[in-house]
Amino acid sequence: MEPHLRILHAVAEAVGRSLDVEEVLRTAVAALTQVTGHEISSLHLLADDGRTLVLRGERGMSPALRAVNETLTAGEGLIGGVAATGDGVVVADAATSPDLLDAARGAVGREGIRGFVCVPIRSRGQILGTLAIGRRMPTPFAPDDVALLQATADQIGVALDNARLYSETAQQLDELRRTQAQLVHAEKLSAIGELASGVAHEINNPLTTILGHAHLIGDMPDVPPAAKERLKVIADEATRAARIVQNLLAFARRYPPERRPCLLTDQVERVLELVDFRLRQDAVEVVTEFGPCPVVWADGHQVQQVLLNLVQNAQHAMATGGGARTLTIRTGTTDGWARIEVLDTGTGLAPEVLSRVFDPFFTTKPEGEGSGLGLSVSYGLVAEHGGRLLAANRRDRRGAVFTVELPLGEPS
Ligand code: ADP
Repeated sequence: MEPHLRILHAVAEAVGRSLDVEEVLRTAVAALTQVTGHEISSLHLLADDGRTLVLRGERGMSPALRAVNETLTAGEGLIGGVAATGDGVVVADAATSPDLLDAARGAVGREGIRGFVCVPIRSRGQILGTLAIGRRMPTPFAPDDVALLQATADQIGVALDNARLYSETAQQLDELRRTQAQLVHAEKLSAIGELASGVAHEINNPLTTILGHAHLIGDMPDVPPAAKERLKVIADEATRAARIVQNLLAFARRYPPERRPCLLTDQVERVLELVDFRLRQDAVEVVTEFGPCPVVWADGHQVQQVLLNLVQNAQHAMATGGGARTLTIRTGTTDGWARIEVLDTGTGLAPEVLSRVFDPFFTTKPEGEGSGLGLSVSYGLVAEHGGRLLAANRRDRRGAVFTVELPLGEPS
């Protein structure tokens, strides 16, 4: 018994080391053939349909043998029979066994496989799959060998169960994290919203007074032209401040989109006008490539808000990235979607950034500079339009590309 125990121990150790299903399968089959010295081994797992057996690991199989074993059906053939009944089989001469699948008979005969044993892999009373070994010697497998294989299969069953539980738990944890992030996002936004609406109210009143008086004085007949000029500056600035307050409100609060027919190229142009000065200051070359794009039912302000975020991020990535600075904005359509692409020549998105760019509060900007809300809010705005916001790296050169997709046609 001693060598058997050693083998079992080696397999148990190999499969117990990992919580990754694929790795458990790989190591199980490798350890089994290595330590037992058997020529051919195979491991099948039942698919979700409960009928299809999929080859998940093998050692020593010829391509022809692998081809017939790739997928099997529970209840058919030697291996399929074990998967259906849960009873192991031991065969002295596999090639002549009446239970062998007809499709496998040729390959098994050519390979000269004689002794064959197959046992079920179980976990918590359920059949997960099968484990089989074969050899070219006619000596049948002894009861000890079968017991060893069954003990190995049991170990694999436990390891598989652990790995599955682990991956389910990891998935649930991931979902929980996402939900928590969304909750925090919503909480934070509503806090900003309340604060902003309070501030907006407080600031709007004095701004209205300033604006009103500036107009009143400006209309007086004896005001000299130079003073009128200055009054106009006061009125313009007060109007701008009022707009910023409104933007802050729109940004912090989630208004449902007010959809009207809107031309995406118009929205792009408005945003570019807004940031024109800063782009020029940063020596950013702006390229627009407007393809034909019909009118889209969207909230123009929200589309602008999204574009503004994308353009500002692009500008920041190019300012920190060094090299040529070109901002390209394209519009067009694909398969029922209107599309706006914002391409930059900045730092691009490292994998760890790419996977988190839309997370609320995710930012790589220095403290005080980034809130990490721009893209998550933009994502929400586009989603409320029934559209998608996608992030990727450019293929043609260094830099990132953000794509806004909005559904074409009137909303139902
Ligand atoms: P913030 O701009 O406040 O950091 P965002 O949600 O807008 O928040 O962006 C999150 C992060 O995504 C940024 O800090 C940056 O790391 C990354 N990012 C966004 N746009 C780009 C871009 N065009 N190029 C490279 N990185 C980007």
